[in-house]
Amino acid sequence: MKPIPFNKPFIIGHELDYIANAVAQGHLSGDGGYTKSCHRWFEEKLGVRRALLTHSCTAALEMAAILCDIRPGDEVILPSYTFVSTANAFVLRGAVPVFVDIRSDNLNIDETLIEAAITPRTRAIVPVHYAGVPCEMDAIMAIAQRHQLLVVEDAAQALLSTCKGRALGSIGHFGCLSFHETKNIISGEGGALLVNDERFAERAEIVREKGTNRSQFFRGEVDKYTWVDIGSSYLPSELIGAFLYAQLEHADQITAKRCHICTAYAAQLASLQQAGKLRLPAFDGDSNGHMYYVILDSLETRTKLIAHLKAQGIHPVFHYVPLHSSPAGRKYGRTASAMTVTDGLSERLLRLPLHYEMSDEDIARVSAAIHDFFIRG
Ligand SMILES: *Cc1c(COP(=O)(O)O)cnc(C)c1O
Repeated sequence: MKPIPFNKPFIIGHELDYIANAVAQGHLSGDGGYTKSCHRWFEEKLGVRRALLTHSCTAALEMAAILCDIRPGDEVILPSYTFVSTANAFVLRGAVPVFVDIRSDNLNIDETLIEAAITPRTRAIVPVHYAGVPCEMDAIMAIAQRHQLLVVEDAAQALLSTCKGRALGSIGHFGCLSFHETKNIISGEGGALLVNDERFAERAEIVREKGTNRSQFFRGEVDKYTWVDIGSSYLPSELIGAFLYAQLEHADQITAKRCHICTAYAAQLASLQQAGKLRLPAFDGDSNGHMYYVILDSLETRTKLIAHLKAQGIHPVFHYVPLHSSPAGRKYGRTASAMTVTDGLSERLLRLPLHYEMSDEDIARVSAAIHDFFIRG
C-alpha cells in the first residue's frame, strides 16, 4: 500500500517561475522584489506595522529577544510544552526561561498561572499558539500591561489563525512566524518577524542587517552605511522570498484544505472519542488547520498505535519532550508551577499525517487504521 507520510513539502503555484525570475533579474541576496512583496502581503493581510522575512522562526525569536533588550539574568515566561527555539532564543541573551503549565483543553500556556510567575527580573511573556489555536491574548496583554512586560507571540504554527478577528502574531509587541516545510505555508526553511509596536521598527531593520543602517542608507535617509548596533545576518536570500511569495498567493486555499482535513478527521474519529478510547482536539473555527492530534490514555497505547499505523505505511509523529525536563531546560531554566498537565499530556499526544496533498482516501485510510487498532486491541 502507498505510504502516507506525516508531511510532504509541496508546490502550489508559481514557486519555480518566481525563482527563475529572481535569477534572471540578478538580485539573489536579501530584500529583493519578491521579499518586499512578501513584506507587504503580511503587513496588509495580517494588519501588522512591519513584517521582515528571516531565515527561520528561530531567527525571528532571536531578533525579538535582542529587541526586547533581554540581559543576563532577566526572566522570560513561557510554556514548557513547545519547540526548543521558544526558549533558546532568550537563553542566548543570558535569560532564564521560566516555565508554566499548559491548559488541558487546548495545550496553550495557562494564562491564570502567569501572574504568579512574575518576579522583579521578568521582562517578557512568550505565548505559543499551539496547533494554531489562539492563547488567551486579552488576558495575557492585560497582565503584560499591568507589569510593564513585553509580549512575543510564538506564532510559528499560527499563520492565518485569528483571535476575535485579529490575526495571531499581530497582537503582542512582536510576532514570530515559521515557513519551515512542516508548517502550513512553506519555503523550506524560513520565517518572519512581525513588529507591531512602532518603537521597535527602526532597530529591527538594523539588527536584521548585521547591526548596520544599510536599509536607511538604501532609502537615502543617511549618507553613510555603517555599524551602529548589535545584530546578525537574519535576512534570507531572494530565492526564499520568491518561493514564499508564490505560496502566499494561495494562502487561503492552503488553509482551507488543511481545515478540511481536520474536519474530516474529527468526523471520522468522533465515535472513538464517544467510546472513551481517545480524546480529540476541541475544534476551533478560527484556527488554521495546522495540526491534527489525538490524545491517548497512556504512553504504552501510543507506542502500540504508532507500531500499528507504521505497519500499514502510515507515519504519525509525536512531540515535545517538555523543555523543563530536557537537559538544557534543567540547566538554563526553572519551573514556576507544577507541570502536571504538561507531563501528563506529552507522552500521550500523537500527531496524524496532515499535508496539502493528502486525499480524502488517505484521511479515510488513517482513520480506519485507528478504528481497527481499537477494535482489535
Ligand atoms: C516550528 C516551530 C518553531 C521553529 O521554527 P523554525 O522556522 O524551524 O525556526 C518555533 N516554535 C514553534 C512553536 C514551532 O512549531
